[in-house]
Amino acid sequence: MMFRVTVLTLYPDMFPGALGLSLAGKALERGDWALEAVQIRDFASDRHRTIDDTPAGGGAGMVMRPDILAKAIDAVAPQGDARPKLLMSPRGRPLTQQRVRTLATGPGAMILCGRFEGVDQRIIDARDLEEVSIGDYILSGGEPAALVLLDAVVRLLPGVMGNAASGTEESFENGLLEHPHYTRPQDFEGRPIPEVLTSGNHARIAAWRRGEAERLTAERRPDLLSGPQPVTK
Ligand code: SAH
Repeated sequence: MMFRVTVLTLYPDMFPGALGLSLAGKALERGDWALEAVQIRDFASDRHRTIDDTPAGGGAGMVMRPDILAKAIDAVAPQGDARPKLLMSPRGRPLTQQRVRTLATGPGAMILCGRFEGVDQRIIDARDLEEVSIGDYILSGGEPAALVLLDAVVRLLPGVMGNAASGTEESFENGLLEHPHYTRPQDFEGRPIPEVLTSGNHARIAAWRRGEAERLTAERRPDLLSGPQPVTK
């Protein structure tokens, strides 16, 4: 089963963007996954291809219309399409490695990228869109967020990463941040590689790495250590 992504956007030229290069780009060329970016304006019905309007209740900015978004969504992901329908949104559930992993084992995704103030709430409700945030800050559009999400997912697809192990020994995979890395030269500006790493003693190395991972996590992300994580799909 091929991992198939359809992005609904006002800026299809932003895709594949960075995902057309490096490992994701090679995998895309090989056909390990597929990406289609569809222009939302193609589903507008007026001469000016309008897709937004002023917010009900007043206020600044514009809101994307639900009727046009419905036409776009129904055209690219009709009923029966098993792919999750995502909406990039700062109000969404924060993206986690766990959600990324689940998405990577599925058939792909339909991703709606917001612009302006966002989308009319009724399209979220009517098409049961899953709102996904990439962090507590505001982007000017959902496109960079979609690229971030897809980068995280695509690297986990079978055959994309050369070394399968490096997909499972990362930060967050075991609930901890990763230990620090070192390579040659042995001495860099008077800073040697920690002696244990050149000892050849694999048990000591594993214990040191575990200790460093725990120390860094406690120091920088105590939230990762405290209690159960929020339930994610
Ligand atoms: N008025 C909205 C922000 C709109 S930003 C609010 O205050 O919540 C415009 C679009 O950028 C959003 O519709 C969304 O698609 C995207 N976006 C902005 N920040 C994002 C984030 N942190 N994660 C995911 N998408 C984001």
